Amino acid sequence: MKTTQIAIDGPAGAGKSTIARLVADLFDFTYIDTGAMYRAITLKAMRMNIELVDEEAFGFLDDTEFSYVEGRLHMDGADVSRDIRTREVSNNVSLVSSHRLVRKKLVERQKCIAKDQDIVMDGRDIGYNVLPAADYKFFLTANVKTRALRRFRENEEQGLHIPLEDLESEIIARDDFDTNRIHSPLKPANDAVIIDTSNMRIEDVVKTIESIVKEVD
Ligand code: C5P
Repeated sequence: MKTTQIAIDGPAGAGKSTIARLVADLFDFTYIDTGAMYRAITLKAMRMNIELVDEEAFGFLDDTEFSYVEGRLHMDGADVSRDIRTREVSNNVSLVSSHRLVRKKLVERQKCIAKDQDIVMDGRDIGYNVLPAADYKFFLTANVKTRALRRFRENEEQGLHIPLEDLESEIIARDDFDTNRIHSPLKPANDAVIIDTSNMRIEDVVKTIESIVKEVD
């Protein structure tokens, strides 16, 4: 059976996960947030107190089990979807995901998940590395002020008070790290459609993606 793959990449706070989830709902596809997997590994490494710079210490990945239960990420049988969103995890995840070994193991799993089902997958390297043959590829961007403001509002809604300037500098640092790492850095696939969402509403971005997918079908 021919399945359809939609890859959505972009920097932190560009709206990827919200939009990818809505697109998946619209077409009744499975949604996979690959950033959540890198975050979960970071959380586990922090809980195990291992040296995050030490790539060799991530052998535990082989014995780590992931599953998605109603859109929520479970690791080793426990729902971690909340714990992976802390500021500490956000500030350490780029380092962890720069390790070649970590990427190799997670990319293998992502490819495997995407093999037999219609899927929307979001991340940093999906369009050119995880699913290079994806039917549709999008790269969402937005200026850094807009992205920091979005994160700020999300945090405030959850009762988390982090100054806007701090969020902005954390986002800049994370993008910088993700873009300049050696192994599969953050970048658009050559054939990705680039959408600047700075001045767009979520529903308009979803409509843009929907119209491109329908146009080709
Ligand atoms: O998407 P999110 O912001 O949750 O991703 C967290 C981090 O995971 C990114 O900053 C990046 O370091 C890493 N990541 C990655 N490759 C992906 C998805 C996420 O390196 N495909």
